[in-house]
Amino acid sequence: MSRVRILDLSFQELAALLTGWGEPPYRARQLWQWLWRKWATSFQEMTDLPSALRERLACEFQLEVARPGAVQLDAEEGTEKVLLSLLDGEKIEAVLIRDEGRRTVCVSTQVGCPVGCRFCATGQMGFVRNLTPGEIAAQVLHFARRLASGGERVTHVVVMGMGEPLLNYQATLRALHNLHHPQGFALGGRKMTLSTVGVVPGIRKLAREGLPLNLAISLHAPRDELRRKLVPWGKQWGVREVVEAADEYAAATGRRVTYEYVLLRGVNDGLREARELGKLLRGRLAHVNLIPFNPAPGLPFHRPPPRRVEAFREELLRWGVDVTVRRSRGVRIRAACGQLRTRVGAKDAGFSSRLP
Ligand code: SAH
Ligand code: SF4
Repeated sequence: MSRVRILDLSFQELAALLTGWGEPPYRARQLWQWLWRKWATSFQEMTDLPSALRERLACEFQLEVARPGAVQLDAEEGTEKVLLSLLDGEKIEAVLIRDEGRRTVCVSTQVGCPVGCRFCATGQMGFVRNLTPGEIAAQVLHFARRLASGGERVTHVVVMGMGEPLLNYQATLRALHNLHHPQGFALGGRKMTLSTVGVVPGIRKLAREGLPLNLAISLHAPRDELRRKLVPWGKQWGVREVVEAADEYAAATGRRVTYEYVLLRGVNDGLREARELGKLLRGRLAHVNLIPFNPAPGLPFHRPPPRRVEAFREELLRWGVDVTVRRSRGVRIRAACGQLRTRVGAKDAGFSSRLP
């Protein structure tokens, strides 16, 4: 029988287990701190635990969930991408972005993604499997260890890597709750951002989680007919429904929602779309983040020229909608938004229908 992966467990589960073994209550806290505060890589190093307990833990639990492999570094930007091999041989990518004092880890939640957005390299590889909570959190722990050697720490986590987090709701939320736990990694909810393509039931559920995450909604189009072409899965939930669910999130948490909008030259970057988006979002507790398209092999789109991005931005401002343009980081090492892909050639880009 395969051993339980200890990083998949919540604090309560771990505590119940240890109590069941007859251990005193403080043991759970000690063990939790080894896992989530000191980022231990073996049970042997947990020297303040009795050796019999360490042995039992090593027998019953698996601690390692991912092996770091190739690293790509953009020395000028300080962006770093790591390829992590999971125990079943699947591979995922995680990214560290250095931005002034911030050290942000961008994590993946699935191997591949079932949504299949036309402009996203991950979407083009198809869906392989969901990650477990430990596999999601391990990406953050990996960079926490890396940074510690230079006296630095992870300050932010963005769930914007491979996969759609709200289609792997339980594992993603378990990972974020574990990273949030005050006895361990202690990352504040406001330091975490979850980006979703707009899984409406997931957004509603998230509003009731009691974890004040920043929510980002990948909208990309102000009307259904255009959005359906870019986000195939978007057929299930219309633009209106997505925006209403985001409003619920904003109302429940008091947090402003970010709308991400990938600008694709000649596809969704016109003044018509800017106007429609402005009308849709004016007066809402919202903010737009424009992301000029990041190219990746096989993706049949182009980045709009800066003056078009600027015109789009100005039109939104005219509607009183707050807007920023995302400075893309990691483009040179293919670590930017939408560029993560580990099985090149697994599936053709497959984009043939012409877009308006
Ligand atoms: N599945 C989630 C989170 C991962 S994608 C989501 O879609 O929100 C993270 C962000 O990268 C999304 O806003 C997505 O639309 C954007 N993105 C995808 N492909 C891109 C590309 N080629 N260029 C720029 N941004 C891209
Ligand atoms: Fe999946 Fe997000 Fe890529 Fe769309 S943009 S395919 S939802 S990872």
